[in-house]
Amino acid sequence: MFGLLKRVFGTAQDRKLRKYRKIVDQINAFEATYQRLSDQELRAKTAEFKKRIQEGESLDDLLPEAYAVVKNACRRLVGREIRVSGYHQKWDMVPYDVQLLGAIAMHFCSIAEMQTGEGKTLTASMPLYLNALSGQPVHLVTVNDYLAQRDCEWIGVIFLFLDLSVGYLRSDMLSQKRQEIYAKDIVYGTASEFGFDYLRDNSMATHQKEQVQRGHYFVIVDEIDSILIDEARTPLIISGPAAKRTQMYDGLKKGVDHLVRKQQELCQSLAQNAHKTLEEEDAMTSAALRKKRATVKEALRTLWLVGKGTPRNSLLKSLRENPDIRAELEALETYYCSEQNKEEKEKAFKELYIIVDERASEYELTDKGIDVWTEQEKGSPHDFVMLDLGFEYAEIDDADLSESEKMEKKRALQKEDTQRKARAHSLRQLFRAHLLLEKDVDYIIQEEKVVIIDENTGRPQPGRRYSDGLHQAIEAKEGLQVQGETQNYATITLQNYFRMYEKLAGMTGTAITEAIEFKELYELEVLQIPTHKPCIRKDFDDEIYMTEREKYTAMLEEIKSIHERGQPILIGTESVDVSERFSQLLKKMGLRHTVLNAKNHAKEAEIIAGAGVEGAITLATKMAGRGTDIKLTPEAKKAGGLAILGATRDESRRADRQMRGRSGRLGDPGFSKFYLSFEDRLPRLFASPRMTAILQRFRPPEGEPISAKVLNKSIETAQKRVEQRNYAARKRTLEYDDVMNKQRQEIYAFRQETLTVEDSLDLAADLLHKAISTLFAEFSEESPEAKESFRATLMSHYPVHFSEDAWKEQDSSSLEEYVYTKVLEEWERKCSMEEGEILNFLNPEKSPNQVLREVVRNLIVRKIDTLWQEHLTAVDHLRADVHLRVVGQKDPLMEFKQEAFFLFASFSNQLYQEIARDLFRFAMIIPQEKVLEKLRKEAKGKKARSKDSPLIPFPQG
Ligand code: ADP
Ligand code: MG
Repeated sequence: MFGLLKRVFGTAQDRKLRKYRKIVDQINAFEATYQRLSDQELRAKTAEFKKRIQEGESLDDLLPEAYAVVKNACRRLVGREIRVSGYHQKWDMVPYDVQLLGAIAMHFCSIAEMQTGEGKTLTASMPLYLNALSGQPVHLVTVNDYLAQRDCEWIGVIFLFLDLSVGYLRSDMLSQKRQEIYAKDIVYGTASEFGFDYLRDNSMATHQKEQVQRGHYFVIVDEIDSILIDEARTPLIISGPAAKRTQMYDGLKKGVDHLVRKQQELCQSLAQNAHKTLEEEDAMTSAALRKKRATVKEALRTLWLVGKGTPRNSLLKSLRENPDIRAELEALETYYCSEQNKEEKEKAFKELYIIVDERASEYELTDKGIDVWTEQEKGSPHDFVMLDLGFEYAEIDDADLSESEKMEKKRALQKEDTQRKARAHSLRQLFRAHLLLEKDVDYIIQEEKVVIIDENTGRPQPGRRYSDGLHQAIEAKEGLQVQGETQNYATITLQNYFRMYEKLAGMTGTAITEAIEFKELYELEVLQIPTHKPCIRKDFDDEIYMTEREKYTAMLEEIKSIHERGQPILIGTESVDVSERFSQLLKKMGLRHTVLNAKNHAKEAEIIAGAGVEGAITLATKMAGRGTDIKLTPEAKKAGGLAILGATRDESRRADRQMRGRSGRLGDPGFSKFYLSFEDRLPRLFASPRMTAILQRFRPPEGEPISAKVLNKSIETAQKRVEQRNYAARKRTLEYDDVMNKQRQEIYAFRQETLTVEDSLDLAADLLHKAISTLFAEFSEESPEAKESFRATLMSHYPVHFSEDAWKEQDSSSLEEYVYTKVLEEWERKCSMEEGEILNFLNPEKSPNQVLREVVRNLIVRKIDTLWQEHLTAVDHLRADVHLRVVGQKDPLMEFKQEAFFLFASFSNQLYQEIARDLFRFAMIIPQEKVLEKLRKEAKGKKARSKDSPLIPFPQG
């Protein structure tokens, strides 16, 4: 099945395995000698290793000894009772050699591909231990909260035995608890816990004391493919209500509704006419179709067009069940896709209002659509054309106007541009909501709220929202209350979070099909670790049916007969919806079964773990219960092991391998088989015309599968094609995100410096310098008037008087230094004045200078946060708009990079200027009650003392 991959990766893989096997021998040799040590002596190894590292020994050199210590500790633990997630369990694990191999691979920053049930949890303990010896932060990322706790309590026993500390994160922990956890040598937690803590530390914490993480050194990501690949398009976002409201769905909704309905009606009547023609001409059979009279041809062309306007039209769907018609339509698609027939295609499109590309998830209004929009729906002709600002500015510059008139005009133009963009943006999202998102497929409505359905697990995701106004657009579409707009305070993709670690490693049962992606995007090698015992599971070819109905019937029959043998069955479906439909059918047949749709991970794990009992039938979505392995009872083994039945093929081969891998663990018996119909998503959208041709030739009688070996190949090709497309999309997302990533790193580093710098007053002086030199960068002394007006500008920025005479004496080379010296003098004066104020009023325990430092630090951090949030919004809009602007041959990504760079430059300049300004504007406001308190105490003749500084910086003006 993975022939090609084997050829490319095979030899390199073998070489590496051979190399690592030698290390395994060393580990085992050390371990043999450790067996003679006392527990105390073994434990003392940890301190010894730490010392050797401090003396310069590298982790790589220590590896064999350290792993041997862990292995030996495991041996000593055998038989010990451990409490894991509330249950008592007896320790019975000593790492196998293949686990040592995986452990070595991970230390060297590879992904260890190890099948389900091979014991990845234990394998990870070795690289975790070794890397924690460095004293630097070591993290292990699990799929969910439940597993973080389970794995930590279970494997943590080893670390505690060896004198290292370990802890796990949970979503309901408060920041103080988190800080305690992060202080441990090894921390278990989910990706989003780690990611959000990072964001909070860098966007919310206003004091170093409030930060919880202590850095990012080594991380192992469990089920790494689910994090780096499946979660690829959902960034972590910390958001809050937006200051400004820019959406305008209410005004646009009616028009969009109308136009979309018009299109649906048009397509429906086109489809009906075509259907009628085909029936009248008796063209529903291949012989008649082949004759192809002009009317028939036209009817087929019309059907093809319906597919372009409303891909999910139900009449079209049922006509496509006829393989001959399907073949004709595919032939037409190929015909129209060719460059030669482009014009003809454009002409055909003119009949529609909107063209919808379901595959690419895009749509476009035709000229006819735009006309209807502007004339009948009271839209504006400007809705689909943006202003060319550069051109317009040039026009204004050339016009015969005064400078101030020009300024005024440009400002008006900018305003108009902003408004148009906001309107166009809302409009785009409304159309998207109507054309590409379907109720009960992409989202459901629960208690008057739009709830997203997760693409991978098919589960509702309450609380999550589509970003960028799309969620509001759906609310408008469904006639629900449109929720307030939110603004992002901080955001990062998981990918970029993990790239921050000095060392990144991973483990999973399924990585090799995406090896190229891991290598190209994350510089991670994949190493396939052999299984402890050979795998004897049988993987059958797919069974392919014409219709969904036939497929389900066949599956039910199979389920019945497997069940009679007592063999446990796991049925994998693509969504919860299908699981539930299946459940209905099983109920009718009187078959007892369990449906996995618990939102509770602990319960999910329990159900999955119980799926290996004789006669058990379990329905699950593909991703459900990841991280839990299915143990078979002796009776179940005797009955033939676990049977995996897949209700369809996933878009990626990886997900299917994941499903198969649930059976056949540790040499257990079992088999796997996938069922497919031509109505399933994969063949419907991505299969080749060749497949349809085969279908025409080998059309089976009702209820029978199509048995053609070549079809399996076709499906795999379709999967590969989708994988490539998705990879390209992910790579693109990452490229866009890279731009933001660099900016984020820069600003977070600056923020961190502000939080940690000893004397923030020095930092303030530096910032004043920066602000002044950026002002000077724009100043050129071309005339005495210019110089004079620059003096006025500076005085409007800083409360400093530059006398006219002194100003004239300075030449342009000394001017900047002169200005800076004067401003700095003023700043120092301001500082001592404020310090005097603090002392005068409060006699705080801290020195006035310390209080002032905190105040200034706070002022700078707050400024960074506000402006950065505004910048994030600006970049978000840019990302959405950049595609619109692309006229001619420009690459949107290049445009985005360039513009984002300019935005960042102007953001940092603004940051300097505003901080510089505020440094002179803040004033200490003493809360009234403190003043009274002080007076009272003075009256009593006692010294007032106050613990915390009650001073609040208050920007004036
Ligand atoms: P994976 O994550 O690779 O699917 P797990 O870490 O969940 O696998 O382990 C699967 C099962 O194998 C667990 O029940 C564990 O107790 C068992 N196991 C792992 N390693 C060993 C070992 N060296 N000896 C005995 N049992 C082991
Ligand atoms: Mg696991």
